[in-house]
Order: sequence, then C-alpha cells, then structure tokens
Amino acid sequence: MRNNFSLALKKLNLKITPKRLAILEILMKESVFLGPEEIWKKLRTRFKKIGLPTVYRNLEELAEGNIISKINHPNRQLYYYLCPNQSPHHHFICLSCHKVEDINFCILKELEEEVINNIRGKVLSHILQINGLCKECFKERKNGL
Ligand SMILES: [Zn+2]
Ligand SMILES: [Zn+2]
Ligand SMILES: [Zn+2]
Repeated sequence: MRNNFSLALKKLNLKITPKRLAILEILMKESVFLGPEEIWKKLRTRFKKIGLPTVYRNLEELAEGNIISKINHPNRQLYYYLCPNQSPHHHFICLSCHKVEDINFCILKELEEEVINNIRGKVLSHILQINGLCKECFKERKNGL
C-alpha cells in the first residue's frame, strides 16, 4: 500500500514526502472520516513541529488529486476519507460515529441521460453522498442510550 501511495503521488507530480505518506497512513487505518485537526494531532506524535496549515494544504492537494475524498458534512466542517475501493462508487456516512460505508449501486445513469437529453451538453461526473446513522448508532438511538 505504501508503494501504491508513492505511485499515486508520482502520477500527480506531488513530491513523496514523509508527511504526505504519514497522512495517507493515518487515513488508511481508519474506516471513519477525519477532520484536519484530528489528523494533525496524530501527526504530531511523529512530526513535533508540523503546523496545522501544512496539514490543511497537504489534505487539499491529496483531495484534488483524488487520492483521498472530501466528505460533505452538513456541519460544513472539512473532513477527509481514504477509500480502499478504487472503482467508482458512492458513500454512506454516519453523522454520529463518522463511519463510511460504500454504496456499490447507482441509479443516476438514467438521470444523466435525462440531463443530456434536455441540456444537450456533456455530463462528466456526478456527486452523491447519503448521510444518516449507521446500524449501531441507529440501534443506540432507539434504545435511548
Ligand atoms: Zn455510526
Ligand atoms: Zn468508498
Ligand atoms: Zn453514481
């Protein structure tokens, strides 16, 4: 996986730095999305002097290169997620525990066709994210915990 990251960074002409690799490793270990400050806290155990703006900048570069995904949270805060699934798919995010689950199903092709027929332009991509409570969090909520 470390080599995969190096390859991905090379393709984007991003220099392979220990900090970038560390950010990717932190995100890879999680099945939840993380905010820049959480990532910064974890990074500081290895890079004592790393500043928060550096973390913000690196995350933005990695997201622009599609190595990591930006999560659209209703609280408008920035979050990032590294998905091991490389094929096109969508995400379900739990607003309570921040877990991310893959949705390997999409019905938007029909909608895209409808748009193409009406707009007569070209559709390049679509964004879809389902927000909610995961099974565990939903159960807890029902049990009044
Ligand atoms: Zn949850
Ligand atoms: Zn995914
Ligand atoms: Zn889709």
